[in-house]
Parts: sequence; structure tokens; C-alpha cells
Amino acid sequence: MAKATSKREAPVILSLASMKELIKDVPDFPKKGIIFKDITPLLADPDGFNSLIDALITPFKLKGVEIVAGVESRGFLLAPAMAARLGAGIVPLRKKGKLPRKVHSASYDLEYGTDSIEAHTDAFPKNSKVLLVDDVLATGGTAAAAISLIETLGGDLIGSAFLIELAFLNGRKKLPGRTIHSVLTY
Ligand code: AMP
Repeated sequence: MAKATSKREAPVILSLASMKELIKDVPDFPKKGIIFKDITPLLADPDGFNSLIDALITPFKLKGVEIVAGVESRGFLLAPAMAARLGAGIVPLRKKGKLPRKVHSASYDLEYGTDSIEAHTDAFPKNSKVLLVDDVLATGGTAAAAISLIETLGGDLIGSAFLIELAFLNGRKKLPGRTIHSVLTY
């Protein structure tokens, strides 16, 4: 890991293989049979974090993105840095019961369990250009719910960005016709 000192040199862009080396597979978490992708070592690495944010936004730099919508919880770790580089704002898509004002919600099945996400009904100005982000695209249920939430509330979805796509779970099939960008595929 590069040392985070004041003497650090200019950031280095890591290869996709180097980024993958910083992601740890955790078998049987949070349930037996799931191989959990732990991205925290990659986030903690200065060059790793810079590289992943760069890679997430690259296809969307010239698309006029106004809002980056991050899915709770790990989408929250990515959306702010992406938005700052794109000159956009952020909207948190939160788990049930967390937002204080009037919400719209969408429910979905997870690779493990079920859940729902919510946004304030005024979170997306009409036709605002929205980029969705989450850490992992697995079965696609979360992303499909997030997209329906964004569009129901008036946002214009430009695309969806994922740090990791678990391609063997066919999440893209739940998102037909959508622009999907994933940085690392397994
Ligand atoms: P899905 O709705 O099946 O596409 O699942 C995506 C959501 O579940 C994302 O918010 C991920 O954070 C989480 N998730 C699903 N599978 C994994 C996994 N193998 N490792 C880490 N997170 C996962």
C-alpha cells in the first residue's frame, strides 16, 4: 500500500488486476454460500481509491450528470467522490425508515434476503440527469429498484456504474436497454 504521507508523489492509476488484488473474498458472509466481496482494502489504498473513482466516472464525464445517486450502504462510499469530480450533487437512496420527509419506496430481492430503498419524493428535479452507483451488481434486483425509484420521481437516468459485476448472476438481464458500466467483472 502506498504511504499516505505529505511526501506522496502524484497518484498512480492502478491496473484492473491490481485493483482486484485489493478486494478480498470472504466465503460464507453474511450467509453460507455467499462469497462476499470486501472492498474496504481497496478503498483504504490511496492509489486504489483514486483509481476506482476515476474508472467509475470515465464513461460519464461528458454526459452532463447532475446527480449521482448512491445506494445504501456502500454506494454512499462512492457517490460523493464521483459527484465531486463530475461537478454533480448526490442523492442517497436509503434503507426503509431512514429519511425524515415524504418518501417513495421500491422493494427488491437481494442475493441474500429482501429489502427496500427510499428517496424523498422531491429528490430528483424533473429530467435531472442522474447516474446511479453501487459497489456490486449481483442479481440486479437492487439496481432495478433504484432505477424505478429514480425514474418514478422524475430523474433522467444516464447510466449505472458498479465497482464490481458478478456476471455469473446475470444482473444485466434485469436491466434491459440500460447503460451499465462495471469496472471489475468476476
Ligand atoms: P443484487 O440486488 O443481487 O444485485 O445485490 C446487490 C447489492 O447487494 C449491492 O448493494 C451489494 O452491496 C450487495 N451484494 C450482493 N452480493 C454481494 C457480494 N457477493 N459481495 C458484496 N456485496 C454484495
